[in-house]
Formats: sequence, C-alpha cells, structure tokens
Amino acid sequence: MHHDKKFAIVNPSKMCQPMGALQALLGIKNTMPLIHGSQGCSTYMRFQLIRHFREPIEVASTSMNEKTVIYGGEFNLMKALKNITEKQSPDMIVVTSSCLTETIGDDMAGIIEKFKDANLDKELPVIIPVSTPSYVESHVEGYNRTIKALVEHLATPSVPNGKINIITGNLSPADCKQVKDLLCQLNCDSIILTDTSENLDAPLTEETLSLYDEGTSIKEIEDTANSLGTISLSKHVDSAALFLEKKFGVKSISGPLPLGFENTDQFVTSVCELGDLEIPKSVERDRGRLLDAMVDAHSYNFHRKVAIFGDPDFVSGMTRFTAELGMTPSVVCTGTGSKRFKEDINIISKEKGINPMILAGGDLFDMHHAIKEAGADILIGNAYGASMAKEENIPLLRVGFPIFDRLGAQRISMLGYRGGIEFVDKITNTLLDFYYDEAGYEIVDEKIEEIIGEEGDEGFEEDFMAQEEI
Ligand code: SF4
Repeated sequence: MHHDKKFAIVNPSKMCQPMGALQALLGIKNTMPLIHGSQGCSTYMRFQLIRHFREPIEVASTSMNEKTVIYGGEFNLMKALKNITEKQSPDMIVVTSSCLTETIGDDMAGIIEKFKDANLDKELPVIIPVSTPSYVESHVEGYNRTIKALVEHLATPSVPNGKINIITGNLSPADCKQVKDLLCQLNCDSIILTDTSENLDAPLTEETLSLYDEGTSIKEIEDTANSLGTISLSKHVDSAALFLEKKFGVKSISGPLPLGFENTDQFVTSVCELGDLEIPKSVERDRGRLLDAMVDAHSYNFHRKVAIFGDPDFVSGMTRFTAELGMTPSVVCTGTGSKRFKEDINIISKEKGINPMILAGGDLFDMHHAIKEAGADILIGNAYGASMAKEENIPLLRVGFPIFDRLGAQRISMLGYRGGIEFVDKITNTLLDFYYDEAGYEIVDEKIEEIIGEEGDEGFEEDFMAQEEI
C-alpha cells in the first residue's frame, strides 16, 4: 500500500546531502572535505564509506557542540580551516554544511572570506563552500550541488581543449573505470567529474593515510569551461553542466546512465557526435558480445519479476536493462521524490510493455509492501535490502551504496557494454543458483504448479513452453 502523503520514513532508501558531497569530493586530487557540523555527521559518513569501499577515508569536521551552536560556528570553522591548511596542506578545502549549521544559519561564505582576510600573508588552499541542507532532498542533490559549486568557483575560459566533460554521479570505482576505458576506446579526451577510480580502489602500500594524489585536479576543473560539451551520466546531477552551457556555451547532455544495451548506445552516440568521432571496431565487437550474452541468458531471465531500488538514474537504467533482458520490472523505488524519475519510468514502461509499481520518494517499508502486492523473483539494490529479500525468500543482487555485508563493492561494474556483460552473467547466475537444480532444470515450486494447475493460466504455460524451447 502506498500513500501519496507520508508522515514518517521507515528504512529510508536515500542518504543525506553531505554524504553525496563526500562521494563527489573523494574523486578529487589533494582535496580535504570539511563538514561544518557536529562530529557525529562525519563519523557516520566515514563509517558508511569505509565499510563499503574498505579504504581509509579522510573527512574533517568542525566539531560543533552545544556551546558553539549557541554562539555560531565561526570560531570552529576558522580553526578547522587553519588546522587543515597547516597540517595537511591540501590544494583545496570544500566546506559542506549539515542539518545543524543550516538550521542555525551560519554564513559559511562570509566566514571563509574572513579567514582569507586574516591570512593574506599566507599561501592558502582554494576554499569552496557548498550548502547541503540534509533535511531536504538526498545525497544525489548533495552530489549535484557540490559539482556545481566546484565548477562555478573554478571553471575559467581560455583555449578550446577538444575534451568532453563527464559528470559521473555516484559510481563505483570500477564503473568509473569502465566509462574511462570506453572513452579511451572511442579516442575521446575527457575531464571526469569526479574520478574515483583510483582513490577508492587503491593498492595496498606502506604509506600512511594522506590526501589522494590521484583523481580530478583543480586544473582540470578550471578547464571544463573550454570543453566541447558535458555529458551528465545521471540526469539528477546536471546542474554544473547547465551552468557551463549557460555561462560558457559548453553544450550539455543529460543522461542516460550507460546501463544496458540501448542506454550505452545512446552514450556512445552522444560522445561520437560531440567529439566528431567514429565508433571503432573494438567497441562494435563489445556491443555484439553484450547482445550475445543477452541472447544466451534470455531463457533464464525471461519473465522473471524484478524489484529495483536505489538512486533514481540507476533505477531507471536498471529498469530498462532488465526489460531488455526479457525480465518484468514489478516494483521500482527511489528515495527522491523526483518527477524526472517518474517520467523516465513511464517512457520505459510504454516502450517495453511493462507496468511496474513506481515509488518515487519511497522508503523500503513501502517497497516491501509493494513487493508483497506485485511479486518479485529477485531484488536489486544495496545491502539494506537483505532482510526484505530474506523475508520474501528471493535473492538480493547487491548493487549500489552501501554494500557492507559482502566484499568487493568497489569492483562491481555494470556500465558500458563490458560492464553490461558482467552484469548479465551475474544476474543470470544468481537466478540459476536460486531457481534451477544442479542439472540445470528449473525448480518448479508449489506456487508455479498452483498457477499452472488450478488456474490453468494459458498465457503462463505458453510463456513457460516458449522459455523451454529457446
Ligand atoms: S542527516 Fe544531518 S545530522 Fe544526520 S549525518 Fe546527515 S548532516 Fe549529520
């Protein structure tokens, strides 16, 4: 049961804005994120990030407490900026607000100016404030605002660079790498906003924890004003692209996430059109391989009901991809009350002849009810779906953030043709594990026999036979 007006959220399927800001900032070279708020915020966020990526994560906090809240956060923010500048010498400090400091209305930009004025004799890092009020929107909007703030402060027109800016959104490091590799195959020079591929999947070294020496540089962000265009992989993080288009005439293309066959085709077309590039043979062969994998998997995936939750562009991309695989998306849920998401799902539903229950701004409590109503053979989402899957006795394919109950979240990839192939194997093998016996025959459970036997559902029988014949 889903009500339009909600009075409480139970098991949210989203996180707060500063978390999205951090996800963006962890892909930038030698940069320190500073959360202007109580220590609990940064501790909670570091905890989530560390148990997902299994990498050390540096996040600073202005450590606000009861006293400082009353007098305002100026003293704490100035002190934090001083300490970080002296001890870590970053190229940049990005200050994000939190529930607390938004509520007391601290003027972060004003305090930063005061800090700069008080330190005119010193070489200071670039300092950028981002307003990320956590009680509205979600981590996706936090990500969006952060990239926009970076570009607004740094983008500087000079000479055309022939590059394409890519705003990735919150991807796994492996997916970030998939996108970079695909661009490399296409001979496309790019600026990745932001590049987490090395920072969040780093080799073990003996060096002590310090700021990242890989990722997107400030120079690259400055250069985004001189690019041929910007492609935002997630439609919900395109504010920086729209800013660059308006201010510097850098063409903006919003989405879709290159997830699945058609969406990757669209991404490749966008890149080739913007960059005036030809599709090389190697990309065509990867495309053919994905098609081949989809055909091989079809008899196992066909008509399986799938429930999907996560970030809006991931869920709409995954809805299309699973429909391409012949599956039936039955429930799709995102934590953001996004119109764009609903529009996307409606378009996909029309094209693919599906009719999923759409929960935009939904929580996992709603989702569980919807699954009971619409049914699902498999659940796709982050680790918070585990208990729901267990209760419904269906497998959970872990994708998204956070995944803390399995290893290798940083290595999960599903974007592009190559990532798509990995995903097809993974979802099909999950279904094989769960619904097929060791000889490869489908385990027809009582539920299915009931449908065939008692109701004599001809359509189902036909589908079942068709599935057997393929
Ligand atoms: S919701 Fe607010 S209090 Fe909680 S971690 Fe986010 S910023 Fe901090």
